[in-house]
Amino acid sequence: MMIFLVCLLLFLNTPTMSKTSMNKLQHSEQTIRAATFVEYGVRTSIIVKETGLSHKYVRALAKEITGKSPISGQLAEVTRLIKTKKSLMLSTLLLSIHRKLHTQSLFKPGSEGCFLEQVIQAYEHLEIQVDNLETFSINATPQLITINEAWVLLRSYLNYEIQLSVCTCGCLKLHVIGQKKQACPFCFYLQQSSKSYH
Ligand SMILES: [Zn+2]
Repeated sequence: MMIFLVCLLLFLNTPTMSKTSMNKLQHSEQTIRAATFVEYGVRTSIIVKETGLSHKYVRALAKEITGKSPISGQLAEVTRLIKTKKSLMLSTLLLSIHRKLHTQSLFKPGSEGCFLEQVIQAYEHLEIQVDNLETFSINATPQLITINEAWVLLRSYLNYEIQLSVCTCGCLKLHVIGQKKQACPFCFYLQQSSKSYH
């Protein structure tokens, strides 16, 4: 319920909450959101972007919750995240899940204006759906993509940096806009599995 109220507030106010415009109640609400994200393993730089809280405050909060200093450094580039066939496949699956949740309005009530909540929801679905990859004889775990990488992927998708299209095999395939398209990983695994039957 609290998350719903926080999201509604965000949605009604501004897409990115500025630090100066936050009153005490909003600050407390964003702190609750931030604490949830810390527990989920979200990097502090993402939490800062998503909550409008200061970097120093989020780092201190993360240290208080986890008992250790949070990791700092750059987030992964989207091109690196889709380098291997398995990670490309998981990334495609994640984006497909997000698209389905969005087009069928299946996001949890109130999460429409809260991007990170949507990323977490799609990631949780990915953890469930990953078993389906066994159809393609693939042993993959959702941890091949972390929640932080999922955020980078979905943000890049919404910023039109990466795109989904339909492959001749019937599966969706992902590519980086303006770059040479990678071979569809589903085609590769479908060929491999058909060979193993002969
Ligand atoms: Zn294909």
